[in-house]
Amino acid sequence: MLSYWEKESFITYDFIIIGGGIVGLSTAVSLREKYPQKSVLVLESGFLPSGASTKNAGFACVGSLSEIVADMRTHSSEEIRQLASMRNEGLKILRSRLGEGQIDYHHTGSHELLFHHEKHLLGHIDEVNKLLEPIFEQPVFSDNTQQINKFGFSSEVKFLIENKAEGALHTGKMMKALIQKAVETGVEYKTLSRVSKIEEEGKTGVRIRIENFDHSIRAEKCFICTNAFALQFMPESDISPGRGQVLITEPVFDLPWKGIYHFDEGYYYFREVNGRILLGGGRNLDFDAETTSEFELNSRIQQDLEAKLYELIFPKRKLNVDMRWSGIMAFGKTKMPIIKQISENVVAGVRLGGMGVAIGSLLGKRLSEFA
Ligand SMILES: Cc1cc2nc3c(=O)[nH]c(=O)nc-3n(C[C@H](O)[C@H](O)[C@H](O)COP(=O)(O)OP(=O)(O)OC[C@H]3O[C@@H](n4cnc5c(N)ncnc54)[C@H](O)[C@@H]3O)c2cc1C
Repeated sequence: MLSYWEKESFITYDFIIIGGGIVGLSTAVSLREKYPQKSVLVLESGFLPSGASTKNAGFACVGSLSEIVADMRTHSSEEIRQLASMRNEGLKILRSRLGEGQIDYHHTGSHELLFHHEKHLLGHIDEVNKLLEPIFEQPVFSDNTQQINKFGFSSEVKFLIENKAEGALHTGKMMKALIQKAVETGVEYKTLSRVSKIEEEGKTGVRIRIENFDHSIRAEKCFICTNAFALQFMPESDISPGRGQVLITEPVFDLPWKGIYHFDEGYYYFREVNGRILLGGGRNLDFDAETTSEFELNSRIQQDLEAKLYELIFPKRKLNVDMRWSGIMAFGKTKMPIIKQISENVVAGVRLGGMGVAIGSLLGKRLSEFA
């Protein structure tokens, strides 16, 4: 039974956002920036955001050379340019909205490690730089193999490609700052609020049902920002969950490098965080098992990550793994995210692949334009 006060103040909003990850929160902030008088509620099912936004590696990345060359097989040049541009634009919004200091952003650049069988990729540097020139206005990729020895990688690593457009941030600080920003701008953010159903009310709005709450909440418009979990609301969509796994070592006192690194078409990535090595990826080793929304660890992938750590990244050294975790991403046949009006009053912004840190803020801005 609701009180008069509850009915007056807690049951009707202008905009409701389902999902409190980077996209949901960015949408909320963009909506309040555009419509300061409108009320905005974000409903998040977990106590913490429980998808990918607090689980990721914190790479502010626009794509590695091998990833882009692989994408050229399945995407048009225009799509590849669009994806890089979205990543670049999204990162600009994120950095200026939250402040680089607040999120520990460092424009470190990045390196991609190439192996003997990938030598041909060096021949694509000029082509990809030209493709991305309208966005970055200077060459993004260069061959930095002459510096290879200073990193101390295994001798299996034969070439190093530098990317000047990338950086690293602290994922926890970024999400905390984003929640704070949303709340400061007047957004209501409710956790432990899992939406079970969206009910259309013709042209006038939607009613949202929440688990363990007997009353529906009404909004003029609702935004689905649940990424890998969006099939619940849009079952016909091309969305597959994809688990990503990460480990982090204890601090390493003489780590010879900082910054961020990729290899194998972006399937593996590692970086320095507070003197530790964070290493993730390996989904391509077991695609079937990793097409899941279960937050578990796959021992085959964890063993592979450890092998890469001990044999490739910091060979012949004893390192201790401190923590391991997984997060759930969303993939489809194309890398383009879904930004679409589902019905008169429901809009979705989902399927961000492994790019959500980069494109999440831009997606929020685009979603706010549907309001
Ligand atoms: C291990 C790992 C490493 C990654 N590394 C990077 C990286 O370095 N750089 C990069 O750009 N990207 C990276 N990504 C991808 C990036 O994290 C995601 O693309 C991004 O976080 C997606 O944001 P989102 O808000 O769309 O989804 P999510 O963060 O998944 O947010 C969706 C939210 O919806 C909530 N939800 C689901 N169902 C409901 C419901 N019914 N009711 C209410 N709430 C609901 C979930 O709890 C979740 O919090 C990585 C991902 C992983 C897993």
